[in-house]
Parts: sequence; structure tokens; C-alpha cells
Amino acid sequence: MATVLAFTNQKGGVGKTTSAINIASALGIMGKKTLLIDSDPQGNASSGVGVRKSQLSSSTYDVLIGRCPASAAIQQTEFKNLDVMPATMSLAGAEFELADVEKRESRLRNALEEVADKYDIIIIDCPPSLGMLTINALVASDGAVLPMQCEYFSLEGLSQMMMTIKQVKKLYNPNLTLTGILITMYNGRLNLTLQVIDELKKYYANKLFKTTITRNVRLSEAPSYGAPIQYYDKYAKGADAYDSVAKEILERI
Ligand code: ADP
Ligand code: MG
Repeated sequence: MATVLAFTNQKGGVGKTTSAINIASALGIMGKKTLLIDSDPQGNASSGVGVRKSQLSSSTYDVLIGRCPASAAIQQTEFKNLDVMPATMSLAGAEFELADVEKRESRLRNALEEVADKYDIIIIDCPPSLGMLTINALVASDGAVLPMQCEYFSLEGLSQMMMTIKQVKKLYNPNLTLTGILITMYNGRLNLTLQVIDELKKYYANKLFKTTITRNVRLSEAPSYGAPIQYYDKYAKGADAYDSVAKEILERI
């Protein structure tokens, strides 16, 4: 059975998708059969692993509304041990369409049962909101990974996120845990960054990953080539950093 991890943070632009793509890819290279599920209508995780979205017959949307089984929406990537369930703009409709169906929060979990045996790890890239898509991801997951930037508002966002995880755990998924908090786009020269990290250490010391992801322009270039960092530039700092986080994740699950 695969371990399922939701990469989530209701804030946009904090590095969820970048982390999901590159950690999934690192795990694949380490020999883990990995599935990356794009659960954001922006579809950045899909294009980031080379999916051409105009040519899709089915996607995460079709799986969530029950139009096709998970296996029909999953495709192989050209990267080692890495499959993807892609998403397109149509996924935005799922938030509304799921509003009044039965067991709407367990759609993804139920759909993944079919394929869970085929993978060691399933990584879900969540949208920047706490709506039905994120709830479905958390209900389907064993753990949540929270990428975050060190900004003043990050801490507020974090406590909101922790409350959501608690709620989902209580109502739908007692197994859900916080796998870890990942600092992204780190800039150690900023005082604010250091202050935020001090606060984080105070409250979440054992949840912070030891590895932090520094700003690295190669990480922002890779998606336009449709490739994870390890394939775009394996000598980039970002490649090294994401490999270390992937190892930490394996130790924690
Ligand atoms: P989210 O999925 O949380 O919205 P993204 O992963 O899409 O965030 O990242 C937001 C933007 O920041 C993207 O343009 C991405 O390429 C860039 N980015 C993410 N991490 C880094 C990094 N470590 N260094 C430089 N740019 C980054
Ligand atoms: Mg994203």
C-alpha cells in the first residue's frame, strides 16, 4: 500500500507545486514507485512533469466526479518511476459539483484504493485554498507536508492549516498526521526570515524538516522545460536540497 502525502498550504506561491514535483521525482530516482496527483486547477504540477494538457482525455476532475477510474486518468512520465494524474482548468468545477454529493470528502480516497498497491508513495499537489479539493486530498492522505515561506503572515496561515488538519483528522481521517513543515525560498540574509524560523522552532521544532530550500533560479526555470530539477540541472543547489528532503520524508513515513 502506498503512503499518501498531501502537499498543502492555503497560501499561493509558497512552493507547494515546486516541492511536490521535485520530491516526487527524487523519490522515483531513489527507486520508489511514485504517483504525483495534480489537484490544482492551475495544472502546474502536470506541465512541470511534461504533460501536454491540450491532449488529455481524462484528469483528476474526471476521477473526482466519478466519470472514470483513477487508473484511466494516470499516465506515465518520461521520468524514472514517476506517474502523474494530471489536472486542467476543469478541476475548478469540482469544488461546486461536489458540494452536494454523498461522501464528497472521500471521493479521492475511494478512487485511489484501486491503484494504491501499484505505488510506494503518492504525492498530492493541493490548490491554494481549503475547499473540497484540499479536504479530499487530506482525507486520502496519511500525512500532510506544509511548504511555507518565511513571511510574517505565514505563521497565521500555519495555525489555520493546523486547525484544518485537526478537523479532518477528527471528522474523516483519524490516521492523518503532519509529516513536516518545509521552509522554501529561504533567504538567510533577511532578519524577518530568521525571526519567523525562531518562532517556528518554538512551536513546531520536531516538525520542521532539517533541510531548507533556498532560492534557486534553476528551480523556477525547470517547469518551462517540463522537467523536474534532477533532470533539468542535476547539479543545481535545488536538486541537492530536494533530494535531502525526500530522504527526510522516507525517514518519517
Ligand atoms: P505554489 O504551488 O505554492 O503556488 P509554486 O511552487 O508554484 O508555489 O512556486 C511559486 C513560484 O515560485 C513559481 O514561479 C516557482 O517557480 C517559484 N519558486 C518556488 N520555489 C523556488 C525556489 N526555491 N527558488 C526560486 N523560485 C522558486
Ligand atoms: Mg501550486
